[in-house]
Amino acid sequence: MRIVFATGNKDKMREIRKILGGLDCEILSMKEAGAFEDVVEDGSSFSENAAIKAGAIYRLLEEKEPDKASETVVLADDSGLEIDFLGGEPGIYSARYLGKDTPYTEKNSIILDRLKDVPDEERSARFVCAIAACLPGDKTLSTLGKMEGRIAYSIAGENGFGYDPIFFLPEYGKTSAQLSEDEKNAISHRGKALRQMAELLEKEF
Ligand code: IMP
Repeated sequence: MRIVFATGNKDKMREIRKILGGLDCEILSMKEAGAFEDVVEDGSSFSENAAIKAGAIYRLLEEKEPDKASETVVLADDSGLEIDFLGGEPGIYSARYLGKDTPYTEKNSIILDRLKDVPDEERSARFVCAIAACLPGDKTLSTLGKMEGRIAYSIAGENGFGYDPIFFLPEYGKTSAQLSEDEKNAISHRGKALRQMAELLEKEF
């Protein structure tokens, strides 16, 4: 079997190779498999968007190389941050929230401002990651991972990306941007969803 992950993100590919490395499969990025497509993610949940992406790339590869379709699995993920005080925003719009090209230092400052004077117990938030797998014969699998925390009072940490510098993990007393890559992967939404997916795929092969 070969697993194609529908992402152009190198950091994600590195994490995926680590977590799925135990499976007896070749692991390729979309680019390595020769699939170039910007899929419109117009679903209404993380899981729907991941399934849309995985399905679109599976069909593209099937058209391109029909003889390989029976040995191809396409995985895709969709993730984001849900802030309870903001009614679950930015949610599935996390990448586009406050403008696609707005730097995260600015987006994070705006979020901190919106939560100014909001007490600890109302600052709950979570990162969510859905992973979908498209298998031969129209079979699909899906997993969902979450990392619970709260919105910090100030920006802290240099690791990670996106909203990590404002995502506070009370049990660590740090933001997720203050964790090392391995520490974050062990508890992150994406790590959890990927490890669940690795287990499901192991049962399939
Ligand atoms: P995507 O799933 O790669 O499209 O990610 C969606 C967006 O969610 C990212 O652009 C980030 O804004 C946010 N996001 C998802 N996972 C994380 C994370 O682990 N740390 C920080 N931001 C994240």
